[in-house]
Amino acid sequence: MRQAFRGSIFHCLADPGPRAEQSAIEHIEDGLLIVEDGRVAQVGDAGNLLASVDEQTSIEDYSGKLIVPGLIDCHVHCPQVDIIASYGEQLLDWLSKYAYPAEMQFADENHAREVADFFLDELLRNGTTTAAVFATVHPHSADTLFAAAEERNMRLVGGKVLMDEHCPEELRDDPQSGYDDSKALIEKWHGRGRLGYAITPRFALTSSEAQLDAAGQLAAEYPDTWVHTHLAENQEEVDEIARQFAWSRSYLDVYDRFGLLRERSVFAHCLHLSAEDRALMAKKGGAGAFCPTSNLFLGSGMFDLQSMTDSGVRVGLATDVGGGTSMSLLRTMSEAYKMLHIQGQPLPASRALYLATLGAAEALYLDEHIGNFAAGKEADFIVLDTDASQITARRAAAAESLDELLFALIFLGDDRNIAATYLCGERRAS
Ligand SMILES: [Zn+2]
Repeated sequence: MRQAFRGSIFHCLADPGPRAEQSAIEHIEDGLLIVEDGRVAQVGDAGNLLASVDEQTSIEDYSGKLIVPGLIDCHVHCPQVDIIASYGEQLLDWLSKYAYPAEMQFADENHAREVADFFLDELLRNGTTTAAVFATVHPHSADTLFAAAEERNMRLVGGKVLMDEHCPEELRDDPQSGYDDSKALIEKWHGRGRLGYAITPRFALTSSEAQLDAAGQLAAEYPDTWVHTHLAENQEEVDEIARQFAWSRSYLDVYDRFGLLRERSVFAHCLHLSAEDRALMAKKGGAGAFCPTSNLFLGSGMFDLQSMTDSGVRVGLATDVGGGTSMSLLRTMSEAYKMLHIQGQPLPASRALYLATLGAAEALYLDEHIGNFAAGKEADFIVLDTDASQITARRAAAAESLDELLFALIFLGDDRNIAATYLCGERRAS
């Protein structure tokens, strides 16, 4: 099947960097995106390409609107969607008071499925077409999440959480059951359609050394799976790690010793790292998930994007709902801008979009499939409409450049401005 979508097309070809390098982006004012069997066939100027479009090709006209690649959330918790915006604690207390009780409810499989459906639809409404997702410790929480993603043909990386100590009894597995359940889920779901499995130790504090060792074994047995965990989010947590793993050089060193730092390892937060840690992460191919709304909300600290990228670490943007306060990656970009600005680091609009599209795809090692409109990639994209709210319409009318327009959309836009979300060329939301 051949489809064409007309509109103002914008995507990144590389990292535009803090100076918004124009060679790293492509903007086609009146563009045409041609999709064949769910994949990008071509993008170009509508004036040139329309002549080559035959009568069998359906043309969707989004003139006056912006077509950009689908947004990618590098770290988010499905079960925490119901406790988003819960008041007033730092990480370790917040987990006990809000996150763990919400996760306990996932013992009920019907509840897990109902939340997964809501969660994925909410991602799509917000223009997020791919996410790296934490389920809960219950194996069926990963089953229901994958099944819900498969129904929507959504690209998703997810996994059952591993945790066997320093957490409520009801949420514990053990090193053997965690290994066995993860292995069964990998065999069932990893590489099926658009789904990928992430070995998911919650964080080093909630896993025994025996469990971290078992997780590392799995990571070695299945090198093309992901490893998804948290790293150096909160100072109290970092201090506790130093006590619990007295032999370690650093928090990252703990994961490294157990074979959990490798390509396709995604570490949420990465706030309290040394230069040595960043160099090690870059060398081993691990990636950092930058979660600004969560880091500010939980008072965790500042993400140093410049040091991370200067060290050569892959970085993608993430909402970290429910520590994060919005499902919207547009909102998340605006908070990223503020967090970097206060550290003297510029974040131009094109780079903010890069961090949630091609940059996020690179962080997740998915850039051969998604992230921009290179020919052959899966046609996941969204349509942004500045007219969908009064403030964005008014601000867009005054914008004199694409950069200015994008920047205003990042700050003022929300799910109302996502006019449509497409997965492999098929409309899935709005
Ligand atoms: Zn998290």
